[in-house]
Amino acid sequence: MEQLTINAGVSYPVLIGENALRETNRVIRELKPAVTSILLLIDERVYELHKESVDRHIQSDALYILPAGEQAKSFKVYEQAMGAALEAGLDRHSLIIACGGGATGDLAGFTAATYMRGIRYIQVPTTILAHDSAVGGKTAINHPLGKNMTGSFHQPSAVIYDRSFLETLPLREVRSGFAEVIKHALIADHQFLSELMYEVTDLEKLDKDFLQYALKKGIEIKGDIVRQDEREQNIRAFLNFGHTYGHAVEAWSGFGEKLHGECVMIGMVYALLLSEKKAELTFDVNRFVQWVVSIGYDLKTKAPFDELLNLMKKDKKNLNRKIRFVLLNNVGEPVLKEIEEEDLKDIHFLLKRKGE
Ligand code: NAD
Ligand code: ZN
Repeated sequence: MEQLTINAGVSYPVLIGENALRETNRVIRELKPAVTSILLLIDERVYELHKESVDRHIQSDALYILPAGEQAKSFKVYEQAMGAALEAGLDRHSLIIACGGGATGDLAGFTAATYMRGIRYIQVPTTILAHDSAVGGKTAINHPLGKNMTGSFHQPSAVIYDRSFLETLPLREVRSGFAEVIKHALIADHQFLSELMYEVTDLEKLDKDFLQYALKKGIEIKGDIVRQDEREQNIRAFLNFGHTYGHAVEAWSGFGEKLHGECVMIGMVYALLLSEKKAELTFDVNRFVQWVVSIGYDLKTKAPFDELLNLMKKDKKNLNRKIRFVLLNNVGEPVLKEIEEEDLKDIHFLLKRKGE
């Protein structure tokens, strides 16, 4: 098992490894002030698949089972989770444990952020994508008019990442989550990207130790950016690489039809092509495209440009109605740039040709 420390205003440990879950009680005992009571909020599917080890290693006073995945991030489930916290009699020194993917973490984190104006929580991520979402303290639920539109910054007190959860993750979820690992390499570490491109030839047969190494590396990169800019005043925006066009594709296709990371991969290839034109990128984008297609990413989208453009105009990074993109001057050297509609359109059609 390995341990890292994240410094983001407060500092907290990230435990990562085969049997990390066994450390849960020790981690909780070490929290100051002492924890008075514990509510476990857990994804339904995760509980079904991992009940035995969860019951054995997470000793909670109350348990509330959340609907699987994204359905948990609603006002209704938020109210129910609050109700569970109240019924369990949680006080200001209590703790919420979030066990599940990014959706569970976001809902449980937001519940913790707002229960009695904020109590502590621990993330127990169970997906690859959640290596990203469990660290950094962004919490949110969805509104019918927009995803993640109600939320807050609230750092966890610890992250316990037991890789044995990942063994039951469906391949599509593996691929979706792995896109964010690749994103971390692209924005921060040329060497790490080369390792990924060399080692990862089949997402179904990922070597477990290599996966743990890659997740740890991804967490370190995210942790380092969040340490420098917790509230996204500047460089935290780099974590949005691939997300401007990617989010537009995700929203256009209806959230859930294409998974988040699948759309982010489309968005990253788009941003790389745009970087060749509008930044100084000399990296071999064609080789990268061949690699991601060979491990199963589908770069095709039927979304018409005008509709994607309208969606991109709503992106949170924009200022004064100008569309701003994270581009790469090189692998590991992100920059934020305003882009004209004409260029966005050209790259949309270039990507379409590459995807075919
Ligand atoms: P998710 O939480 O929706 O989980 C995906 C699916 O996998 C669900 O059906 C879930 O039941 C199932 N699942 C979870 N763990 C499993 C396991 N070990 N075995 C089998 N099935 C399992 O999806 P996700 O991709 O982990 O997270 C996506 C969410 O994360 C989105 O809501 C996104 O907005 C959010 N997110 C947040 C941040 C942040 O910084 N807070 C960053 C990125 C993404
Ligand atoms: Zn993302």
